[in-house]
Amino acid sequence: MENIKTVSDFNFKNKIALVRVDFNVPVNNQSFQIIDDTRILYSLPTIQKIISDSGKVVLISHFGRPKGKCSKIYSLRFIISYLSKKLKIPIKFSEYCIGEAVEKKISELKNGEVLLLENIRFYKEEEEGNEYFAFQLSKLGDIYVNDAFGVSHRPHASITIVPKFFREKKCIGFLMKKEIQSLKKVLGKGIAPITILLGGAKISSKIAIIENLINLVDYLLIGGAMSYPFIKAQGGQVGDSLVDEYKNLKVLQKIIEQYQKQKKTKVFFPKDVIIADSFKNSAKTKIVSIHSIPNGWMGLDIGPASIKHFCKIINSSRTILWNGPLGVFEFKNFSSGTTSIAKSIVIATENGAFSLVGGGDSIAALKMKKYETKISCLSTGGGAMLESLKNKMLPGIKAIIS
Ligand code: AMP
Repeated sequence: MENIKTVSDFNFKNKIALVRVDFNVPVNNQSFQIIDDTRILYSLPTIQKIISDSGKVVLISHFGRPKGKCSKIYSLRFIISYLSKKLKIPIKFSEYCIGEAVEKKISELKNGEVLLLENIRFYKEEEEGNEYFAFQLSKLGDIYVNDAFGVSHRPHASITIVPKFFREKKCIGFLMKKEIQSLKKVLGKGIAPITILLGGAKISSKIAIIENLINLVDYLLIGGAMSYPFIKAQGGQVGDSLVDEYKNLKVLQKIIEQYQKQKKTKVFFPKDVIIADSFKNSAKTKIVSIHSIPNGWMGLDIGPASIKHFCKIINSSRTILWNGPLGVFEFKNFSSGTTSIAKSIVIATENGAFSLVGGGDSIAALKMKKYETKISCLSTGGGAMLESLKNKMLPGIKAIIS
């Protein structure tokens, strides 16, 4: 972090800043209304800094997964009026990201003006990390700025290849700086006790993280459907609960053994779960031990004893990172584990703990209870935040340093 340049290190007067942002926000499919504008709001300070320096701003972003093809439903046009209102200036738009048409529009740009490019993923070369495509993009600006934390774990052209063409004229934006600093406050300089809470359904993407956290944190709490493969690996009966396709139980047994061998990190799974006889909100329910879920039943939330246990640990923690719901919180009857955990993180934060929450579902759960402003930091990138927990520098950050 010390040797990484930020937008504060540059004066953008008369310069064209090529800014990679992440405007991949949730929208209503029919009305194109923005449901959650956090990512856009957090990128405004970087854009405003360039404007106030009298620089020109060219914004690159992706939106959704158009898989290399142009399509109306994935157009970034819906951002224009929103951004214009926030920045209080008209926003120009280019339907092309490379080539003469966009180059002409940029040549006509005046200091203090902003040009938004169409969805960069309309070009398949973006996700392929294509060098020539990156070179063409690099011709659009004088200084490259990465403020797209949410995609900085992806080796895409606009993230890892474009910066190569800018030599020392590249930096990160304020959003990226804040994300890096927040993560440092957890793993680098986190005040003990440090607790990491992982939920959700997919375990395969989180195995390397769990392996890395050994000896680094004080408590690792694993909940949600993520816990069932571990319970199975320990010989428990999980009935019809959702078990991620990850089948290598031996690896999970080995991880558990490794945790048992050391003294620092205590790992806990839920003790009890709320089971349902079908996957719906109105299903019949019972509370049972997580190790003995009968066939025909599935665990959809953590039970009251687990809530009490997890909340006690959270309340005693000084540093907390949370990613992933503890149950199927989308169903009201199975949301209390997730919302109780959210509430205890809020209380711990009010009592002075540092809290960092990332991942669309966890942030949605916070918003359900209007807790989002009561957390120390919300991460704009769930996947990127998790990748950072593997203790490797994200490719998008590395590309700015090298
Ligand atoms: P992930 O993408 O891995 O973060 O998973 C998020 C999803 O996990 C959410 O949609 C939750 O509904 C789901 N989830 C959490 N706990 C459970 C559970 N016990 N059974 C089924 N799905 C779950």
